Amino acid sequence: MKYDYLVVGAGLFGATFANLAHKNGKKVLVIDRRNHIAGNVYTENIEGINVHKYGAHIFHTDYKDVWDYVNSFVEFNRYTNSPIARIGNEVYNLPFNMNTFSKMWNDVFTPEDALRHINEEKKEIDKDPTNLEEQAISLVGRTIYEKLIKGYTEKQWNRDCKDLPAFIIKRLPVRLIYDNNYFNDRYQGIPIGGYTKLVEKMLEGIEVRLNTDYFSNIDEFKNIANKVVYTGPLDEYFNYSLGELDWRSLKFDTKILNEENHQGNAVVNYTGHEVEYTRVIEHKHFENNQSDKTVVTYEYPADYEKGMEKYYTINDDKNNKLASEYRDLASKEENVIFGGRLAEYKYYDMDDVIKAAFATINKELKI
Ligand code: FAD
Ligand code: UDP
Repeated sequence: MKYDYLVVGAGLFGATFANLAHKNGKKVLVIDRRNHIAGNVYTENIEGINVHKYGAHIFHTDYKDVWDYVNSFVEFNRYTNSPIARIGNEVYNLPFNMNTFSKMWNDVFTPEDALRHINEEKKEIDKDPTNLEEQAISLVGRTIYEKLIKGYTEKQWNRDCKDLPAFIIKRLPVRLIYDNNYFNDRYQGIPIGGYTKLVEKMLEGIEVRLNTDYFSNIDEFKNIANKVVYTGPLDEYFNYSLGELDWRSLKFDTKILNEENHQGNAVVNYTGHEVEYTRVIEHKHFENNQSDKTVVTYEYPADYEKGMEKYYTINDDKNNKLASEYRDLASKEENVIFGGRLAEYKYYDMDDVIKAAFATINKELKI
């Protein structure tokens, strides 16, 4: 065998595993079928601006080891995600906090005032919430649900909020303080110079082959390494033998504008049905990139079709069951490790993916 590990996929899972295996003296080959490294965190420099090609990525974590690890490759800035929500002619702060409440109701100044409104409105839900609509109303009341949640969520999932599970909305913070920080985590930032630079550094000294699909070259790759670390889609590995797992996708419409500052914030959510997109990203604000132009991306949720990217897992009963059947098959596959969002059919934040790769390499190398 020429290599100890063949890593299929140069995203964050693959890059973390490859980096740590290489540091521990293992011979590693990384392949990716795309023409670039970094998987979905790939950033491309356009007009001096680092453009997040597969959607806005903000690094946030509570894991000190993960934070120290990524900071050992590149410096991170002190970016704090504070998206705003637009509905009709109105603008609100997110996540739901005292800035949102005081603008929503003109007699709200204190947390007590906000609670008076929320508690009054949530009375209509007098049982444990069974769907997203009931969950949202019992968290923030009907006014906020209708202005800031209903439209966004229905566009995102193409389903009525009454037909969606409650858990989707539970992860949105509701705060009774004037604080627009979207995340609760202790550490947050964007790698200065973009995520591609971060992954480039992680893969330094490691052989990488791009435009290389594992399955199209299976004869060559079958016997090239002692073990395969596979980060591609779980069902594809088994040639969809049990059926296809469903995904939600996104369409991105990116424009270069001859303006210095188009919307005054990196992330603006459009929470109503009057437009089809859910968010507009103005990339220069992530890193305060200086340019007399700006790059904006309109994000349109879409059903996944062949040829599109797979973005969000659909965790309904049908897909959960199918994924679990594939996981059973995967656990019987000798000398193959399945890791990352596609191979585990799991929504993973970046820090969780890195943390999972730490656990995998520790188990592998018994450290
Ligand atoms: P990927 O990055 O998808 O890497 C897998 C790689 O494997 C790909 O490059 C693919 O080309 C390659 N591959 C697949 N099959 C094959 C094959 N057969 N042969 C060769 N190569 C193959 N997380 C956050 O923490 N903060 C955020 O703000 C955030 N924003 C997000 C926004 C959106 C729109 C989405 C969808 C996700 C967001 N995430 C965010 C999550 C983040 O994108 C993931 O945690 C991360 O990209 C997962 O890395 P991965 O290595 O598992 O997968
Ligand atoms: N959400 C919403 N309004 C917003 C932003 C989010 O109703 O302005 C809801 C929506 O249901 C979404 C969920 O909160 O699916 C999770 O939001 P998050 O920002 O975590 O979404 P992601 O990063 O997964 O796109």
